[in-house]
This record gives sequence, structure tokens and C-alpha cells, in this order.
Amino acid sequence: MPLEDILHRIRRAERQAGRPDGSVELVAVSKVQPEDRVRAVLEAGQRIFGENRVQEAQGRWTPLREAYPDVELRLIGPLQTNKTKVAVGFFDVIESLDREKLARSLAEAIEAQGRAPRLYVQVNTGEEPQKAGVLPAEVEGFVETCRTTYGLAIEGLMVIPPIDEVPAPHFALLRKLAERNGIERLSMGMSADFEIAIAMGATSVRVGSALFGDRQTPPKP
Ligand SMILES: *Cc1c(COP(=O)(O)O)cnc(C)c1O
Repeated sequence: MPLEDILHRIRRAERQAGRPDGSVELVAVSKVQPEDRVRAVLEAGQRIFGENRVQEAQGRWTPLREAYPDVELRLIGPLQTNKTKVAVGFFDVIESLDREKLARSLAEAIEAQGRAPRLYVQVNTGEEPQKAGVLPAEVEGFVETCRTTYGLAIEGLMVIPPIDEVPAPHFALLRKLAERNGIERLSMGMSADFEIAIAMGATSVRVGSALFGDRQTPPKP
């Protein structure tokens, strides 16, 4: 679906929710997509992109950023501590802060580089064992530790609801956790449910396949 159509759907969802035009940002999730599709979306004017792997993002965006220096890049996938330095030097936003070890490592890299990406805490609202994210009951303590022990400003919360459940209760829980902790931004909603997320207060939606088409998964070896 063309960028224009996605933006139109976002505007319509904002209005239906009684929210101001432009209150929701589109993060175009370009992971695994072929370069021509990404370039087409850039040429149509999109500037915020999400990637879920540090190396893949660097490979793709290091050259593209020369042509489009105003691009904002967000890491929306898991971050290993051995890649923190690179991630701090490269991303404008990191949405997958989910453990104290990573908070410490990010704080050190930010201090050393004098560059601070904006940070979101990922919350595992479905309490899925295989999924990254802080458990809902631990959000308050974790955010407090990030702020006071590591001096990290937390801009928002991020969630990926369980694939086999209706997303609305997860979006509602994320919002409640944000309000309770004085956090204003919510990264929630993907291709299948971004309009619901907007109705429930999302400030950014992460849209991949609806915008770029299906991801071609690399052939298995
Ligand atoms: C891949 C991905 C998306 C985009 O998913 P679509 O369903 O293709 O829109 C959003 N968020 C995260 C964290 C992702 O990994």
C-alpha cells in the first residue's frame, strides 16, 4: 500500500479518536525489505524508519543516510550488550531497553560517546517466556532504576502483543503503565492493528508489511 494511503489511514484514525492531526508518527519498518522499496518510500517523503538488527541497519542505512541526512532511525529489535556501543553511535531511538544490564551498558556508551539516543522500555504485556520485555509488574521499578541509578531519560514504552491474542487489552495496559510512570510516548500498533493502537493512545505506530509488501524471508540453508 502506498505511503500516502497509510498516512491517510493514520489521519483518519487520529480524527476518529478525537486526537490532533499529526499526533501519531509513522515508523516505517524496513527490515529485510529490498532497497528499491525503501528508496521509493524515502522518495515519497517518509523519514522515520525502524530496523530490528543492528548490523543489517548499518549496512543499509550508512550509504542511504548520505543521501537523506534527515532520516531518523529506530532500533525496534533486541539489543545485545556487545552491540551497545555501535547502537548508541548509530540509532536516534532505541525502543528495546528491557533489562538492567543493558541499561548500564547504554549509560556507559552514552557517557563515552556524548551522544544519547532517545529510549523506550519494551514491555512484555503478554508475559510470554520467549519474548523480550520487562514484565508489567516490574516496569515501575525498572524505569526508576534507569532514571536514578543510570541517569537515563525514558521517553516511551513499547509493546509487541502476543500474536494470537486481540491486541487492545495489551495496548490499554501499556498506556496505563505509561501514565503511572509519567511517560508520555507509546510505541504500539503494527500493520494489522495500528488503527486500534491509535484509538488507544499510540504516539507512534510501526508499520512494515502493509507499507512495503510482504517481507521476503531469506531461504533457509
Ligand atoms: C517487524 C516488526 C514490525 C512490523 O510488522 P508488520 O506486521 O510487518 O507491520 C513492528 N514492530 C516490530 C518490533 C517488528 O519487529
